[in-house]
This record gives sequence, structure tokens and C-alpha cells, in this order.
Amino acid sequence: MSLIRKTAAELGTMVASGEVTAVEVAEAHLDRMAEVEPKVNAFLHVDRETTLEQARAVDARLRAGEKLGPLAGVPIAHKDIFTTRDMPTTAASKILKGWRPPYDATVTARLRAAGLVILGKTNLDEFAMGSSTENSAYGTTRNPWDLSRVPGGSSGGSSAAVAAYEAPLSTGTDTGGSIRQPASVTGIVGMKPTYGGSSRYGLIAFASSLDTPGPFARNVLDAALLHEAFSGHDPMDSTSIDAPVPSVVEAARTPDVAGMRIGVVKEFSGEGYQPGVLARYHEAVQLLESLGAKVVEVSCPSFLTALPAYYLIAPSECSSNLARFDAMRYGLRVGDDGTRSAEEVMALTRAAGFGPEVKRRIMLGTYALSSGYYDAYYGQAQKVRTVISREFEAAFHQVDVLVSPTTPTTAFPIGERADDPMAMYLADLCTIPSNLAGNAAMSVPVGLADEDGLPVGLQIMAPVLADDRCYRVGAAVEQALESRWGGPLLKEAPSL
Ligand code: GLN
Repeated sequence: MSLIRKTAAELGTMVASGEVTAVEVAEAHLDRMAEVEPKVNAFLHVDRETTLEQARAVDARLRAGEKLGPLAGVPIAHKDIFTTRDMPTTAASKILKGWRPPYDATVTARLRAAGLVILGKTNLDEFAMGSSTENSAYGTTRNPWDLSRVPGGSSGGSSAAVAAYEAPLSTGTDTGGSIRQPASVTGIVGMKPTYGGSSRYGLIAFASSLDTPGPFARNVLDAALLHEAFSGHDPMDSTSIDAPVPSVVEAARTPDVAGMRIGVVKEFSGEGYQPGVLARYHEAVQLLESLGAKVVEVSCPSFLTALPAYYLIAPSECSSNLARFDAMRYGLRVGDDGTRSAEEVMALTRAAGFGPEVKRRIMLGTYALSSGYYDAYYGQAQKVRTVISREFEAAFHQVDVLVSPTTPTTAFPIGERADDPMAMYLADLCTIPSNLAGNAAMSVPVGLADEDGLPVGLQIMAPVLADDRCYRVGAAVEQALESRWGGPLLKEAPSL
């Protein structure tokens, strides 16, 4: 079997035993990228030589007897919102074109320490605002299952790269669904860890109280290995949690749900959901029941207010975070010809450098935070956020995990929602509550919708710091479905 079809765990074992070198593994993936990138456009930045240099260094460390983790020598696609000192970092925005960060994000540094080889930086919606990658300033990424459709977003380059076998692993960030929704629509596994479980240091901020780095992979165990490689306490991030957590790798290796209580979120199904999504979702729930789980229906009415609350809180934080792009400190500077004031240069730069969705969010957020409106909008949204957290807490007294579809539809056609922000926002209906409450949530593939043959994801939500439960349930679903299908769901990237 060719190297690109191997799992990350297999590749790590092969490199560790000396069966292949990290350089050979990297070359196989770089060749695959050269072949499919013209169709997929998952990467914003690829530099063969920098990648091979990293791979050579990993081989040398292993030859010198250094003990690296289980992913040493495994290639990874890295979302272009994490700073990387040897590669540009743009957040898919024109305002950061050509910016070279002087330091590595904690996630980047931990990937390197574990011996992962960074293949390049992946495309996203500008500053992670969107659900399709259509808001990237550098062109849309295409879904490997159907090149006329979106790969989800905002981490759509990362989901497409893994689904297209360009990389066995990738990183993402999830503020409102940006890991789970793209994982769902490209047929792969995506995990949003507990907020504070993975470091935001060196992650270009969108909404700081929600932003959470997490892994993508083609199977649950690989996602767990990556999760463990870069998560954990970081003194450089003031909201990072310093507490012991159960091993997610162990959980992924223990796919047992017998006796577990699984809550089906009543509010997340029915009208507005694609029939094929609901069919696969209900089957997955039945499957869990057949594996010995106790399934109960749970009502979480406030979850339906999560979307409007998010679209006040996230833009408010965004308007404040993005104020740092002032034409002085980073990247682009427009109109600085000696005749204009700093304010004029700043206004011209921000007008030229930000795309329409980013401007919409900055305006929404500035309005919501302005005096006189603060209590009515931002303050109110924060109250809703508290109610949602309490509802999760109450639910987790009754059940061990909650489940729902990850997103109401399969991958939608490129262009279909580009001019309709509300339709775009609805893609995150089921994912946003977990961001507002900060709990752990995963998307795991559960089959293809009958009407379009496109992947469907099951969302598994667990309490804060109980990320292991997502992996345990996800692995059980994966194992049961694989024996039904006689192999992984994603056998081939269908349209490549
Ligand atoms: N799609 C949502 C938004 O546009 C979530 C994005 C994200 O999680 N980064 O805000």
C-alpha cells in the first residue's frame, strides 16, 4: 500500500522502526500534493525544501537515539492561522500578506518537538470567519468528494488536505464549529478540545473566549495521537487549564460504550435538516444502542439561542482583536506617501486589507459594544451564554455524552451561500453551543447521505475536560461502522 494511504499511527511506527525514513514519507505526500493541489487548493503555502529539511532533521534525531513521540516523521498540514517562524502566516487575509512571524505558536512548537513534519500552511476563511473557505482572500478550497462543493470552514484547507490524502493529519481551530463542520462535510474526524485544553499562544485571535485549536485525521486514533501531541497546559496562554486530564489515546483504544448514557439533543433534528443527514444520524444512534449504550432524549431549548448569542459575542471580540491591524505593526500598508496622517493610512489599509465578511463582523461587534447598546446586545448575549452552560451541566447530570448531527446539511455547492450570510451562519447551528460553554466536542463520519452521496458527521459532546469520552464513543462508532462497511469510509478521494 502506498505511503499516502497509511494511517498516521502506521507511519509513525514505520519511521520509528526504520522501515521508511521521514524524508521518504514527506516526499510521498509532497508528490501527492503536486498531483492534486491544482484541483483542491488546500494549501496557501508549500515549500518543498523547508519540509524536507524538517524531515531530514527528524531522521537525524532518530538516528541519534532521541526518543520522540509516536508521530515522529509523520507529515501534517498546518492551518495558516498558527504562527510559524519559517513560513509566512496570513490567516488568509490580504492584510497579512507576506508577514513572517518572529516566533512559533505553542501548537507549532509542540508539533516540531514531537517530530511532526509540516507540509505547508492550509487555506481558511479570512481570520477563521466563515463556514466554506469562500471568505479566503486567496481563493476557495474545493471538497475532494465533489470539486464543485465547499470543504466546510473555516478550517476547510485542513479538512480537504486530509480528505484528499495530501496529509494524514492537520490542525484546525474551532471558534463556532470550524473543525467539526469541515470534518463532517469531508468525511473525516475533527475534534474541538475543551476550551483551555489546547494553547492559543501564537494563534491569530478571532474571538479569544471561544478559539480552540484541535486535530483533524482520517480516523479516531490518529486524531487522539495528534490531540495529545499538542494539547496540555501552556503558561503562555492565561486561559490554559492546568489540570490532569484522562488520556484521549487510551480512550480511542477502548471503543466500549456498554452502559454509557447517551443523550440525543431533541432540538437538533427535524425541520431544516437534510433527510440523508437525519437518516445517517438516527442509524448511528441506533448503532450506539445496539452496542449497549442507554439512549435517552434530552431537551436543551436554550441551544437554539446559541447562534444569535454567538453572532454578538464573536463579532464583539473580533472587533477588539482585529484593532491590532493598524497598518503600522504587520503586513500591508496602503497610501503611506508622506502626505497622509496615520489615521488616514490606517483607514485606507483596513479598507483594502480586510474582506467583506471581516468588515461585517467588525461593524457588528463595534456596534454591539458601543455605549448605550452594550447591555442590550453584548450583556444580553453573555446571559444567554450562562444559561447554555447551565443547560449543558444539567444534561451532563443525566447523561455521559450528548449527540446530534454535526451540521444540518452535507457540503453545499460553492457560491450557493456566499451572498447569504444567514444561510452560511446556519451551518454552525449544532456546533456553537459547545463553544459558548467551552466543553469538548467531536465530529465523526457516519456514512453518506442517500440523495447526494456526500459524507455525514455525528457530533459527540462531552463535559469540560472529559474529552476522552468523545474519543471513546467516536472510536466505538467508527469500529462498528467499519465492520459494516468492510473498511474505512474514506477509501478513495472520490473525485480525484
Ligand atoms: N462559521 C463560524 C463563523 O463564521 C465559526 C467559525 C470558526 O469556528 N472559526 O464565525
